[in-house]
Amino acid sequence: MKTVFFDVDTQLDFLFPAGALYVPGAELIAPALAALTRFAREHSIPIVSTLDTHREDDPEFRQWKPHCVRGTQGWQKYAPTLGGQTLFEKNRIDFFEDEKLARLLDAFEAKRFVVYGLVTEYCVRSAIFGLLKRGARVELVTDAIKSLDRTKEREVLAKFAAAGGKLVETSNLLTA
Ligand SMILES: [Zn+2]
Repeated sequence: MKTVFFDVDTQLDFLFPAGALYVPGAELIAPALAALTRFAREHSIPIVSTLDTHREDDPEFRQWKPHCVRGTQGWQKYAPTLGGQTLFEKNRIDFFEDEKLARLLDAFEAKRFVVYGLVTEYCVRSAIFGLLKRGARVELVTDAIKSLDRTKEREVLAKFAAAGGKLVETSNLLTA
């Protein structure tokens, strides 16, 4: 089954305590992110990575602390998640309704997407439901995501599973 890994916003501003919009505990998923990236590279699985990308005066900053301003250090991807992937810059939480992204994904002709990254109840949510709508098999790697709000995360996971999504763990994928 043609598989694509879909890596959401694994950028320094979200992942690490010094980041501008640090997601508490996100650094704990760093080893899983690195392992997934390594596995994809070793098995020639394409990776699509979204990059949260804002201008300094982005309207989103009325609601959220400034983060992921293009060109800043915090905007950079966590280095172990880099390597030959397709990068997709976006500046909205509900980014999936983007024609450019749809065309990009069409070109892969994937039947299965494996999703991980940040933040579960925002951009990961947009990705998993957007991918399900495409009719693909979608697997969410539950130990390679992080939320700001555990209750909201549980709701997203339950809704995703009810809609036909699969919840998996890094170890399941790496032994497959
Ligand atoms: Zn943002």
